[in-house]
Amino acid sequence: MIASDLRSGVERLGDMIAEAKTIVPFTGAGISTECGIPDFRSPGGLWTSNRPIEFSEFVASRDARDESWRRRFAMEEVFAAARPGRGHRALASLYRAGKVPAVITQNIDNLHQASGFAAEHVIELHGNTTYAKCIGCGQSYPLDWVKVRFDQDGAAPNCTICDEPVKTATISFGQMMPEDEMQRAAELSRACDLFIAIGSSLVVWPAAGFPMMAKNNGARLVIINREPTDQDDLADLVIRHDIGETLGPFVGN
Ligand code: NAD
Repeated sequence: MIASDLRSGVERLGDMIAEAKTIVPFTGAGISTECGIPDFRSPGGLWTSNRPIEFSEFVASRDARDESWRRRFAMEEVFAAARPGRGHRALASLYRAGKVPAVITQNIDNLHQASGFAAEHVIELHGNTTYAKCIGCGQSYPLDWVKVRFDQDGAAPNCTICDEPVKTATISFGQMMPEDEMQRAAELSRACDLFIAIGSSLVVWPAAGFPMMAKNNGARLVIINREPTDQDDLADLVIRHDIGETLGPFVGN
C-alpha cells in the first residue's frame, strides 16, 4: 500500500513500529544524502560523474588504483564533515529502546556507528570507506597512511606486509561479498517481524534480496524512498517521501 501523504505514512509507520517486536532496518545511500553525501542514482548522484571502477580493474591496473584513490581523496572533505542525519538518529533511538537488534546497511560512510550503534551491530554489506585494507592479507590501514604515501610518490602504496595493493575497505563491483555479513543479514531478515528498507533503489544485488527474504519469512515490509522501487508491490507500506521528514518524528532521547 502506498501512503497517500507523508502524515498518514508516518502514522501508519508509527503503528507498525509499536506493534513490532523485532525491527530490522536496511539502509542505502538515500539515508545519507541529507548529510551531504551524494547517492549513486539520483540526478547529480555519483554515477553521473564517475563510472565505477570494477574490482578486476583495480587489481590489474596501477592507473585504475591511482584513479580510485584520487576519487576517494577528492571525497574526503565530504565524508569527514558528514554527521548522522534524522534517519540515522531515529534508527539509533529504536536501537537504544531495544527494538532494533542491528542495522543492515549498503552504506560505507560509518554514519550508523557515529549515530550510536555499536560497530558489531552495523552489518556492512559493502564495507566501509573510512579506512583501508590490503586486498591480499587484509591488514587495515588508516586513510592518512595511504594519503601521505600517495602524495609523496604520486601513486597508491602497497601493503608493507605482503606487498599487495591497499584499497578502501569497501566491496567494489565484481568483488566477493563478505560471507559473515551476508550470513548475519540473512539471519536478521528471517528473524524480524518488521523490515524497513530506507533510501535504497533496491537494484544492487545480492543486497536487494533481503527485503524479499524478510517478507517471505512473514515480516511486514516497509519501503521508504522518494522514488519508486521494483519491490514496492511487495511492501505492506510504501512511503515515497523524504527520509529525514519521515523518520524525524521517531528521533528520541
Ligand atoms: P542508490 O543511489 O541506488 O539509491 C538511493 C535511493 O535513495 C534513490 O532511489 C533515491 O531516490 C533515494 N533517496 C535519496 N535521497 C533521499 C531522501 N532524502 N529521501 C528519500 N529518498 C532518497 O543507492 P543504494 O541503493 O544504496 O545503492 C548504491 C550503492 O552505492 C550502495 O550499495 C552503497 O554501497 C554505495 N553508496 C554508498 C553511499 C554512502 O555510504 N552514503 C553513497 C553512495 C553510494
